[in-house]
Amino acid sequence: MEPRDLSAHVAYEAGRGVEEVARELGLDPDSLVKLSSNENAYGPAPKAAEAIREYAPNVHTYPKSSAADLREALAERWAVTPSQVWLANGGDGALDYLARAMLDPGEGVLVSRPGFAYYAMSARYHHGTVSEYPIRKSDDFEQTAAGVLQHYDGERIVYITSPHNPSGSEMSLSEVEKLADAADEGTLVVVDEAYGEFSDSPSAVALAEERDDVAVLRTFSKAYGLAGVRLGYAVVPGEWADAYARVNTPFAASEIACRAGLAALDDPAHVEKTVEGARWARQYMYDELDCHTWESSGNFVLCEVGDGTAVAEAAQREGVIVRDTTSFGLPECVRVTCGTREETKRAVEVLNELL
Ligand code: PMP
Repeated sequence: MEPRDLSAHVAYEAGRGVEEVARELGLDPDSLVKLSSNENAYGPAPKAAEAIREYAPNVHTYPKSSAADLREALAERWAVTPSQVWLANGGDGALDYLARAMLDPGEGVLVSRPGFAYYAMSARYHHGTVSEYPIRKSDDFEQTAAGVLQHYDGERIVYITSPHNPSGSEMSLSEVEKLADAADEGTLVVVDEAYGEFSDSPSAVALAEERDDVAVLRTFSKAYGLAGVRLGYAVVPGEWADAYARVNTPFAASEIACRAGLAALDDPAHVEKTVEGARWARQYMYDELDCHTWESSGNFVLCEVGDGTAVAEAAQREGVIVRDTTSFGLPECVRVTCGTREETKRAVEVLNELL
């Protein structure tokens, strides 16, 4: 007995966890600064943590009304209809639903390199094939429609990450529109705005409202601090929004996730504090790190350190965990998540000692 041929599939490499590293190095987990997974430096939205405690006694029932309430609240937030909000187990889950809804076996998707690994993984699970377009360091990771179209060959889904992980660059709405206009009628442009709250640019949800070929991905993992809860969603065009009912895993987001999401939406002060903190940390890193950095619209900064693996390993021995970006195809860089002031200062101090 064997699983199907998974030789083209690769395992997702998450940033290393505090417990894992502490155990390996024989250190106290509390002494470590973890800036490797773009998590929220300020914890979960307090109202969400409260809701999780409050609704714990209710988890013996399926999450029906809470999911409906959350879809409604998000629809209001984005001025779309509830059916256009596809709740999922994290943004990753929403990517799966989009692939399920779009891909026939053997159809292609186009992803960026460097880029977020899960687009390709999800497409392969759904029997799709994967092609790449470059986002070039030599162009400061600039993202344009022309840059994507040069490598476009009628793929069914084109993924745009804006803000882009790991560089922090963006694609403007006018370029997204140009791309969607130039692509075939049957091509869906997915704009991944997992880091959207940290950017000053307008969301592509406006395009998902106007046209039938742009969908937007958002998550509660970053600015709302709910990465451990697993809650994300896609906003899709009204024309085919009802496909959700045919592709979603029953009860796509848990009762706890839905309640936490509703409470987090009602806690704007936490998002403001998080975004303010990230702004400060980005600027501090640009100003203080003794290496080249790129301006980022996310809650992280890409830093050119020479040998990313060596620097990440050495920093870890000093108790600071950053992301080696070798697996993204950038072996000369590390990505540093925006921490609290104290964490960010410590990371900069350690990295500067190593540079
Ligand atoms: N898109 C991008 C670009 C990401 O970096 C991540 C998480 N690291 C996600 C989507 C998915 O996040 P989640 O599943 O936690 O919502």
